[in-house]
Amino acid sequence: MLPTGREQLLTDLRPARAVRTDSIVDLVGNTPLVRLHHIERDAPGVEIWAKCEFCNPAGSVKDRAALRIVRDALERGLLRPGVRLIDSTSGNTGIAYAMVGAALGVPVTLVMPENVSAPRKQVTTAYGVEIVYSSPMEGSDGAIRLAHELVEREPDRWHYADQYKNPNNPLAHYHTTAPEIWQQTGGRVTHFVTGIGTSGTVVGTSRRLHELDPAIRCIAIQPDDAMHGLEGMKHLPSSIVPAIYDPSVLDDTIWMPTDEGWDMAERLAKEEGLFVGHSSGGNVAGALRVAKQLSAEGRRGVVVTILCDRGDRYFVPLRWEKRYLW
Ligand code: PMP
Repeated sequence: MLPTGREQLLTDLRPARAVRTDSIVDLVGNTPLVRLHHIERDAPGVEIWAKCEFCNPAGSVKDRAALRIVRDALERGLLRPGVRLIDSTSGNTGIAYAMVGAALGVPVTLVMPENVSAPRKQVTTAYGVEIVYSSPMEGSDGAIRLAHELVEREPDRWHYADQYKNPNNPLAHYHTTAPEIWQQTGGRVTHFVTGIGTSGTVVGTSRRLHELDPAIRCIAIQPDDAMHGLEGMKHLPSSIVPAIYDPSVLDDTIWMPTDEGWDMAERLAKEEGLFVGHSSGGNVAGALRVAKQLSAEGRRGVVVTILCDRGDRYFVPLRWEKRYLW
């Protein structure tokens, strides 16, 4: 019998949203998987699915890593009264630490290059974090070096979260992102494709997917131009190679020109209604390359990729930039 009235309303609520919770951090993860019906037309016979990490409460895939990093440090007593969490980040990880820190009562200091956009500074400051600036000339590698120096100078003052070394970064994806993908595709996933920043997403997810089904192909994307790569993504080994990077869990690497990522981000907005950042564009462009190859060989497949964050995270409102010049 079909439910009616109030019961009908209750059944109409989609489980992912029908949540009541004590803390914003409970809403990290369990993100929707959306099929890219229009993009996948370029690769007949192959499905392309994207994990909507922009649905996380602080707006990006990094909420998962930040939450696990902070929870683990609290449990092990590394974060205790008088100790601040510190890390280098010019973007999503910082916003994620800021949200998690505020929600769990952990003070946070972020080291970022002085030339990061005003909105980045505004968002993190809104959550109450302290910012330390590194040289604008040295990019994220300079921020990593300065965070190291600060921690060496006053080791008792800080808990250095070190997202490039912290095993909880890939573990977050091992324990959540991968099983979610497995469940949401009903175990049909054949390929997983995503970019490398710290490599936490690709390493943790790939490791678990390979355990669930060794036949799944896991493919990393890197910008093919070290100087003008996609924001949030790293060109290895021209950058500092993260300690958590483990190429043994990867079956292949795709080298992606920056423009291909931007172009796909534009297509995603116009063709799928998904206004996402350009690293997400790079990820879908990589997924489409894999899908086209399969299609050309007459093979079927279920290719899964990651939509890291929203496109509006990359707006640079110049008027505000001038007014709030930190
Ligand atoms: N895209 C964006 C926009 C990011 O901020 C990041 C994280 N730096 C990534 C992709 C890559 O994620 P990960 O650090 O897990 O490799």
